[in-house]
Amino acid sequence: MKIIKAGIVILFFIFCGVLKSQTLEDEAVGWLQNYIQIDTINPPGNEYRAVDFLAEIFEAEGIEYQTAESAPGRGNIWARLEGGNEPGLILLQHSDVVPADEEFWTIPVLSGAIRDGVILGRGARDMKGLGTLQLATFIALHRSGVELNRDVVFLATADEEAGGMFGVGWLIENRPEIFEDIGILLNEGGGGSRVGQSVVFSVEVTQKVPVWLRLYAIDQPGHGSSPRTTSSVTRIVQALNTLLENPFPPRIIGPVNEYFSALSVDMEEEWAGSYANIQSAINDPNFVAKLHDARPGHNSLIRDTCSMTRMSGSNKINVIPPTAWAELDCRILPDKPADQFISELDDLIGYTGVEIQKIMAFTPAISETNSRLYRAIDSVTQELHPGSRVLPSVSTGFTDSHFTRDLGIISYGFNPIITSRGEHTGVHGNDEQVGEEAFRRGVGDFYAVVRNVVID
Ligand SMILES: [Zn+2]
Repeated sequence: MKIIKAGIVILFFIFCGVLKSQTLEDEAVGWLQNYIQIDTINPPGNEYRAVDFLAEIFEAEGIEYQTAESAPGRGNIWARLEGGNEPGLILLQHSDVVPADEEFWTIPVLSGAIRDGVILGRGARDMKGLGTLQLATFIALHRSGVELNRDVVFLATADEEAGGMFGVGWLIENRPEIFEDIGILLNEGGGGSRVGQSVVFSVEVTQKVPVWLRLYAIDQPGHGSSPRTTSSVTRIVQALNTLLENPFPPRIIGPVNEYFSALSVDMEEEWAGSYANIQSAINDPNFVAKLHDARPGHNSLIRDTCSMTRMSGSNKINVIPPTAWAELDCRILPDKPADQFISELDDLIGYTGVEIQKIMAFTPAISETNSRLYRAIDSVTQELHPGSRVLPSVSTGFTDSHFTRDLGIISYGFNPIITSRGEHTGVHGNDEQVGEEAFRRGVGDFYAVVRNVVID
């Protein structure tokens, strides 16, 4: 009898062991490793492979899903859990990743292996890691069978890394029903960081607006031996020089003010005072110059910028060409329309005779922080990480959120995975990686935030 009892106890522990080995965290680690191994390097993308991978998981769970190819091989997939009448929530991820130069990696680029406690491979951070947290949350909600106060949509799209025209941009045009009745959305763009003992979660609420321009000049062509007073090339050079000598004046928009003020709390004394009062600090040219020099990323948050990236004149050294051009990657703060910026730029450099041509421009949009979703991020992260803080942030780059903000959907960049300052992440770089423990913790944390919003 005793032996049988002992046997039952042993069996019980073995059974528990088996159960334990199948926690959501374990599953998520496995999913992430497999997801990384799928080659969705863009170009060319081949995101249909990610669609197949996700479809297989949904099928095993009995979750209905839909797919659409925006072009051959450019797959998109979405699934919806039906809920109550509150405006729906989209969990948005892109399944493509950027190329990598194998030569500079210490492991195969699409490894997915775990080494020294980190999960390695292109996409571990951007953004198959966060994408897997979204997947795990979606699956867990489905398994729980609990009543939702709103629809929850899982959406994995193609092409974000190349602008999203075969992904979110295409879906908005061709599958608008996905976005109907949606009020809130979680995407990449934010993150948790540990500075000393304190943890800060940044929630991206807006981003600099790309305005890509070509300056185009026409003038008399001629022989290089007899220059005239002006040429197409001198006009371009003069316009660029004017731009160089007249940086756009700093100005502080609401979210940047909040962001700098929150950053000031953990900042070295040298910077803290100015960050806390950034609105007045920008009146000091010395501070502005020092910021630009030491922290170009933060300088980009206090003004419009134009990077000079491409130019072309003659194709022969002794020929003065009839036309010349230069291209500018301008990023403007999201408080004015692109056309107004272009007209201001024209006031500045128009005297040189160059024409400003618009290559591409997005519309500016800011997601307000006065929402249930933001409050959920704030309260749940504080509960899970006592003493942590949440702060709204502005991204200098852009994500697919600009598409959904244009639709009026409150879109936040939020990622609960905590990175220590200075920790190597390899986003768009070499040996991209995410700490396994931080990722595991993120599984439960992301689920807790979403639950707080979708369950009453
Ligand atoms: Zn990304």
